[in-house]
Amino acid sequence: MHYTILDCYTDEASGLGVPPYLGTYPRYIYGQLKKEGHRVSYLTIDDLRLWKRYNGKKREPKEHEKTNILIYNLTNNDAEQILSQTDTLIVILGVHVPGKYLTALPGTLREVIHLIEDLPLKKILTGPAIFGTQLEGGKSYEKSDLSLFNEIKNYEVSFDELEKYVLEGVSIIKEIPDKRVIEIETSRGCNIGKCSFCTEPLKNKFVNRAKEAIVKEVKAYYDLGARYFRLGKQADFYSSDRPIEMLKEIRLLCPDLAMLHIDNVNPNSVIKPDGEAITKAIVDYCTPGNIAAFGVESFDPAVVKANLLNTAPAVAMKAIKIINKYGAERGTNGLPQYLPGINIIFGLLNETKETHQKNMDAFHQIMNEGLMLRRINIRQVAILPDTYLEQHGGMKYLLKNKKYYWKWRNQIRQEVDYPMLQRILPAGTIISDVWTEMYDGKTTFCRQMGTYPLVIGVKGRLPLKQKIKVKVTKYMLRSITGEVVG
Ligand code: SF4
Repeated sequence: MHYTILDCYTDEASGLGVPPYLGTYPRYIYGQLKKEGHRVSYLTIDDLRLWKRYNGKKREPKEHEKTNILIYNLTNNDAEQILSQTDTLIVILGVHVPGKYLTALPGTLREVIHLIEDLPLKKILTGPAIFGTQLEGGKSYEKSDLSLFNEIKNYEVSFDELEKYVLEGVSIIKEIPDKRVIEIETSRGCNIGKCSFCTEPLKNKFVNRAKEAIVKEVKAYYDLGARYFRLGKQADFYSSDRPIEMLKEIRLLCPDLAMLHIDNVNPNSVIKPDGEAITKAIVDYCTPGNIAAFGVESFDPAVVKANLLNTAPAVAMKAIKIINKYGAERGTNGLPQYLPGINIIFGLLNETKETHQKNMDAFHQIMNEGLMLRRINIRQVAILPDTYLEQHGGMKYLLKNKKYYWKWRNQIRQEVDYPMLQRILPAGTIISDVWTEMYDGKTTFCRQMGTYPLVIGVKGRLPLKQKIKVKVTKYMLRSITGEVVG
């Protein structure tokens, strides 16, 4: 049987699969089907768009145009040819925590259904979309007619089952010409809470993946040439199976790693007795520019309580100080080694105007105490089916406060992000390992490979996909401008 995996990209509270990240879903399914002896091909939604919307022709953008990110992430495969030989198409799709993506646009159900409806093959839908999907924050989940799909299938198996075939999936990277950050799963479910908006507790009971299996998977990708990794699919990296040993072993076995980062961290774990030792190990064994993404969501105790959030404002503050204490030093690539990042969500239950004031008070305290935050993610909640939020108020607060969101967000950007960027990267700082990625008019936008990498605008249209060194010149609200120095 010939299976083709169509990756429309995924973004969840725990786990990113939007390029330059390569998520777990395509890799695991690829491995499973290979192990079963099938022929397996990998396509991206970009490959399909190129065939169906652009007649297979990719043209260079003109001087005044942007790079077309709809067809940026092509594989080595020709979609038309591959699909003409395919028996079953497995569509991986689903965005639960919508973000802004510099060089990719995830496919929506509506888009992909339109693109595949005339293909005479069996169609299976999988990925986070089986729990609902929404590419834009501040909305309810996408409601599409799924009758086109012959099956809606959850491919997830226990970690024990997964380890029997996961390494078979490694060869998927031979189908992708560009570099990818391999997103590694370290646990499932959530040992922390049942946040009102989150699907993670609905999807899985909490279970850790064995440290040995994690190290083996990283090593297998490393041996095939991958150099960028994020131990990012988890609710709390600090609760992983023996995290200090895990990091130590990965560095020992993969000495030429270019990037090793983590993602989600529960501030409550950072303030536990072993939290400082884990923090230190992350600084020692990971690469600079690393971020502990704290799902604080709100500094308003009334919102924390109503939405069953896990982090009291005082805990968040304590954890921010600990990470700063060990991670603030500048690393070899120009960025501080390891800093906290804060997620804030608008539209949660019990949100009022005071909620914003409490968030601002907390941010001002962080600024006044000389602490650093590497990034603040602000989004409007996406309301997903069967969540506590959907069942206890849904859109109520979103609709009530929507008129303030632009103002609230802008105040955080102006009063916190802007001065914070200057603190993190003073003018003149040299940042290395920066990749040129896309054009917008006469500017080239660049990033390091990393977790939530900073966008750097450089004057002129530089050749893309090249590694450069940049000197920091100016600041935008959430990005910087720089000058090429090598
Ligand atoms: S801490 Fe909350 S948001 Fe994070 S995975 Fe657990 S339930 Fe979801």
